[in-house]
Amino acid sequence: MSIRNGSDAVGKPPATGPWDVIVVGSGLSGLTTAAYLAANGRKVLVLESYDVAGGCSQTFRRKREWQFDVGLHYIGGVKTGDIAQVLKGLGLLDRIEFVEMDPDGFDTFVFPDFEFRVPKGWDAYTERLVETFPDEAEGLRKCMKVFEQVMNELRTAGIPNKDSDLEQYLAKAPTVVQWGMRSLAELFDECGLSAKSRAVLAGHAGDYATPPSRTPVTMHAGLVDHYMQEGAFYVRGGGQVLAAHLIDVIHTNGGRVRTHAEVTSIDVEDGAVTGVTVEGDERISAPVVVSTADLKRTFLDLLDSAVLPDGLAEIVDGYRMATPLVCVYLGLDFDLNERMPNTNYWIHSRYDDEVSYEYVAAGEFDPDPPVYITSATVKDPEWTGHTPPGCSTVELMTWTTPSLEAWGVEDEEKAGKYSRQQGYRAAKDNITELLIDGAEKVLGELRSHIVWKEAATPMTVTRYTGSSAGSSYGIEPATDQFGPLRPDFRTEIDGLYLSGASTRSGHGIVGVMNGGIASASAVLGRNLRREVADGAVFGDPEALTAGGEGWDALEACRRLQDKSARRKAALAG
Ligand SMILES: Cc1cc2nc3c(=O)[nH]c(=O)nc-3n(C[C@H](O)[C@H](O)[C@H](O)COP(=O)(O)OP(=O)(O)OC[C@H]3O[C@@H](n4cnc5c(N)ncnc54)[C@H](O)[C@@H]3O)c2cc1C
Repeated sequence: MSIRNGSDAVGKPPATGPWDVIVVGSGLSGLTTAAYLAANGRKVLVLESYDVAGGCSQTFRRKREWQFDVGLHYIGGVKTGDIAQVLKGLGLLDRIEFVEMDPDGFDTFVFPDFEFRVPKGWDAYTERLVETFPDEAEGLRKCMKVFEQVMNELRTAGIPNKDSDLEQYLAKAPTVVQWGMRSLAELFDECGLSAKSRAVLAGHAGDYATPPSRTPVTMHAGLVDHYMQEGAFYVRGGGQVLAAHLIDVIHTNGGRVRTHAEVTSIDVEDGAVTGVTVEGDERISAPVVVSTADLKRTFLDLLDSAVLPDGLAEIVDGYRMATPLVCVYLGLDFDLNERMPNTNYWIHSRYDDEVSYEYVAAGEFDPDPPVYITSATVKDPEWTGHTPPGCSTVELMTWTTPSLEAWGVEDEEKAGKYSRQQGYRAAKDNITELLIDGAEKVLGELRSHIVWKEAATPMTVTRYTGSSAGSSYGIEPATDQFGPLRPDFRTEIDGLYLSGASTRSGHGIVGVMNGGIASASAVLGRNLRREVADGAVFGDPEALTAGGEGWDALEACRRLQDKSARRKAALAG
């Protein structure tokens, strides 16, 4: 099979500067921002430190035949919802295939004495809750109504900002005002819910890794709503497909994505951005820089402290990062479809998730962690690139402490590279086995079928994406750091913009893609989202070439480095 690469797919040499905009980071936030800017006539350069573009949306392969997903396991809003809108405005919606998970149970929560399958649709979900907990019918209906109303009101009234007329907003969005920023635990109390029904309602809280006592009602309602509206989906071929198509848009519209290009500083003169410096001392000029790098690193490392407005460094330093995840990747020698419906399992050994966050806060491991189980070969059985024939992959996850001490990581200068340190390896092996124990509760004996096994810890996430405390959800989406309390896309430094999981639009694929279009809107001074809703499609979709026979999304996102820049850096260094 001949493989067509993303950089040459459009049959043109890679674009060169001068650049109008530099985007730091090629996760889906950076690629969406860059695609919208490029399709609107800006010369855009995306700089990515790793050697594959895509950030957390990446897939990776082992032995050339086992493919695993890093951070896209299921998403919603792909038919007419938020992700569909973002793709539609670039002419991509029909080019990407999404496969739906079981609409009658896309998530299955497994507790010690019962299971609960989450169906799509607010009404079906509410009725199943009421059937499961008939004594709590009134409280459950009240609670679900709040979630649904918050989202309906947000769809019509939008998110308030500092210029909003609050009286008018209150008239349009009373439930948002009353409940939007309060905690899930408060709402559960108000509705008089039992420990078990609360546990079901917060069953997929791993999607935002925040305990009910700190989770804003809007965070939870938004996450659930994006599955309720149209169901839960996986991207045929894996998360990398989204990144590869966005790169096609950027390259087709005169922009460029460069991998192996770590930005070491964002350069500012007289209060305005002038460009960036890339590892190897390469200076690249642009009047606009959009940083999607970790928020703390952007402000505390990449920018000189002297250019920050008074007090900003303290504010940024004070944000709490979201609780990180640990993920175990297994290759199995049998077809998991024989044992598992097209669902994600969430195994909970207790009804109170606050307990597991107490372990996180104490810098300890939960000895009985919740386990999330998802399988690309179950979600996407027709795409043959996930495994060798007749085999399966499964990914097991939980949230965990970022404490280096708990993970047995010692000072690298003294003890050598962290990944080879004995304490770290022991901690990683221990959690790997705990997660496999959890998976075996529903999937049966797995250990004798494992032909590939590895784990990614918070330290792995930091190594690959540069995120603080191993977080892939940005700053914690908690009541004191949510919505308007998160950083805006525009910063106080002229020409510097933000995009990504820590911004207002939040984390997750839907959050960062929404943020991408919002950040591009801020740069252009337009409301691109509204223009797309009115039917606008930017760029020339007919000129796009990604996809089709022989096309490999992972290859399309690789080999995008600038060889001449690397040669120059090597000679200079
Ligand atoms: C295990 C796991 C499971 C998940 N599952 C889901 C899921 O099922 N559904 C869902 O919606 N979300 C999921 N997520 C969350 C989602 O993947 C992320 O929130 C989202 O992809 C983050 O996008 P981003 O663009 O903000 O950041 P990233 O994807 O982290 O991208 C940032 C990029 O910037 C680059 N970078 C950083 N610093 C520099 C620098 N100085 N110079 C150059 N480049 C730099 C990084 O290398 C990285 O590529 C999951 C995440 C993880 C880790």
